[in-house]
Amino acid sequence: MDHQENNERALHLLQTVFGYPAFRGQQAEIVGHVSGGGDALVLMPTGGGKSLCYQIPALVRDGVGVVVSPLIALMQDQVDALAEVGVRAAFLNSTQTYEEASRIERQVRMGEIDLVYVAPERLMTERCLNLFQASKIALFAIDEAHCVSQWGHDFRPEYIKLSVLHEQFPNVPRIALTATADPQTRAEIIHRLQLGDAMQFVSSFDRPNIRYQIVEKANGRKQLLDFITTEHGGDCGIVYCLSRKKVEETAEFLNENGVRAMAYHAGMDHAKRAANQAKFLREENIVMCATIAFGMGIDKPNVRFVCHLDLPKSIEGYYQETGRAGRDGEPSSAWMAYGLQDVVLQRRMIDESEADETFKRVLGNKLDAMLGLCETLSCRRVRLLDYFGEASGPCGNCDTCLIPPVSFDGTVPVQKLLSAVYRVDQRFAAGHVIEVLRGVETDRIKTWHHDSLSVFGIGADRSEQEWRAILRQVIALGLVTVDHEQYSSLKLTDAARPVLKGGQKVQLRQYQKPVKQKSPSRASKGYVESDLSPREQAIFDKLRWWRVETARAHDVAAYIIFNDATLREIAKARPTTLSDLRGISGVGEKKLASYGDEIVAMISEME
Ligand code: ADP
Ligand code: ZN
Repeated sequence: MDHQENNERALHLLQTVFGYPAFRGQQAEIVGHVSGGGDALVLMPTGGGKSLCYQIPALVRDGVGVVVSPLIALMQDQVDALAEVGVRAAFLNSTQTYEEASRIERQVRMGEIDLVYVAPERLMTERCLNLFQASKIALFAIDEAHCVSQWGHDFRPEYIKLSVLHEQFPNVPRIALTATADPQTRAEIIHRLQLGDAMQFVSSFDRPNIRYQIVEKANGRKQLLDFITTEHGGDCGIVYCLSRKKVEETAEFLNENGVRAMAYHAGMDHAKRAANQAKFLREENIVMCATIAFGMGIDKPNVRFVCHLDLPKSIEGYYQETGRAGRDGEPSSAWMAYGLQDVVLQRRMIDESEADETFKRVLGNKLDAMLGLCETLSCRRVRLLDYFGEASGPCGNCDTCLIPPVSFDGTVPVQKLLSAVYRVDQRFAAGHVIEVLRGVETDRIKTWHHDSLSVFGIGADRSEQEWRAILRQVIALGLVTVDHEQYSSLKLTDAARPVLKGGQKVQLRQYQKPVKQKSPSRASKGYVESDLSPREQAIFDKLRWWRVETARAHDVAAYIIFNDATLREIAKARPTTLSDLRGISGVGEKKLASYGDEIVAMISEME
């Protein structure tokens, strides 16, 4: 087939099988390149639409498409979703019986299957490699390709061995895909998978439908509850916490307060963890409280919010975690509460880690970038994208764009704070220093005669919260460090000197009392609040109920039937014939045949 024909066939498959009118972003180019037999490296953010980049070429080309994926738990859902649109898909992994696997292997050999998912350790077996040698292979797709990176947190040793594909199947195109953006990981993928000659497709990493918000932590759990109930009542979401204990406590707290929540962390037994994950993927109106162990491959498209109750270690981590919100492109939130304690804790974790000095410095730099994002006076998205080397302008859909923070000349209060640290001989922790500044006569202050210091009470005009906010920024700016060897005492750095001496000014972000914030106008870019009329809303709700029941009857996740965007469009268009329904994005031929009559009847009934 020539190039032109391939492209026409690809578009036809997109429309009839998947029911989408057009390719998105770079999909068309990628599909064209791989369908024509080329190797590709695809870097696209979560929700960008990576799956179609290998699924369609696998259908265009002769033979079976082999998808290497580290996520055994999700293979069933992937195969279910393909079956729903009428694509013949299967998987080979350790959860199957020998008979089941043999049956799939036979189908692969006979070319009776379009796509087969395999775990990397399975692929590396003699048996599997022989099977693929004896079969016609359309392509190899290597999903989550960043798993080859030894420095990343998803490292899988078996991924490194995937270079054999290049050696054993030199004529089969390979496409590697990942949502990890940094240049180091990219270089490692190319090197390890021998993709030096592959065409690289790098998409913008912006996720315009995600609204970023970072608030000052006062009572984190309470703030979280307010955020969920005021902005995301009834939605699915993920809440990340640092420790297992906090995960459990947060889930319990949410449940006590009427938000359905579950827990997920590496300390739970395997069966319970797997059950909670499956439940989260299948059900609506549920919140998962988790450590970062819950992550890769959370393919649920309608996660409406991702919250952080603790500061992530790096912007890479933060971006990957928040990226799990809104894969379907609908308005979603990334919300974080952060406070002084977070900064202190993360610094301590670095100091106390076993890593060598160079590595500690790398960790420290990553943390500094993360703090910079938290304390920024300008657009969060600009900061985030800049970190990944992408230039952009103010987004209009983050907290600093929507409610610009007030900054002020903080030189004088910072000088007061630095002097107080110095006057107590750099031997006391934050709480004590703030008490000295505010002139609180505690026993400890009297014991040490700190009430006779010149700095005692010079900061009485500010609340404790305000002083904590200032101290946090002073630490973020690197003027003060926390010494964990010595009771978390505050120490001045060399950078503090010019400020203390009065040569250097310091601009600070104004502390804003955590008020119960009504959500800012959602009319801005990327954020279209439900634009359904009451009548359309009623249809939408009915469709959602129908979807829950249908999904249960078919034993698949609800989003596999239709996603929210498709249901919303149906509610608006109110199709009363099958041909009207066919025109809607997300309705392919197979789904039209399976559900068309039911939907049309349901809508006619409501007219
Ligand atoms: P990724 O793997 O990059 O995170 P997915 O492949 O899961 O993204 O796609 C994310 C969502 O976007 C899915 O719900 C998918 O059906 C949808 N999608 C992908 N490509 C298109 C397209 N061309 N038109 C409409 N929707 C699309
Ligand atoms: Zn912004």
